[in-house]
Amino acid sequence: MESLDEQDPQLEQLEPVKRKKEKRPPGRPKGSKTESIRVGYLAIRCPKCGSSERGAYFGSTKRTRLEGTFNGEAYNEIVTRRARCKCGQVRIEKSYELI
Ligand SMILES: [Zn+2]
Repeated sequence: MESLDEQDPQLEQLEPVKRKKEKRPPGRPKGSKTESIRVGYLAIRCPKCGSSERGAYFGSTKRTRLEGTFNGEAYNEIVTRRARCKCGQVRIEKSYELI
């Protein structure tokens, strides 16, 4: 008598897990921002309504390389951002950052 073949004919063939080769480009990973320390911030009151509340930034951010000190803290870049006040007035805000 033939012994029972215990091997399951429908034995699952394990497919090798396809692994995506993750190539890490040298240098900074994508999306990482340049770390900078904000040493100073110039709060500009809205000329229209007098509010100093900061709205959402929009448009482009302008970065100017300039070394100096703000309240004794050294900075090397001035970042100019445009923000819209709650009243609709556009305000230019400056922050002093150290990169
Ligand atoms: Zn305003």
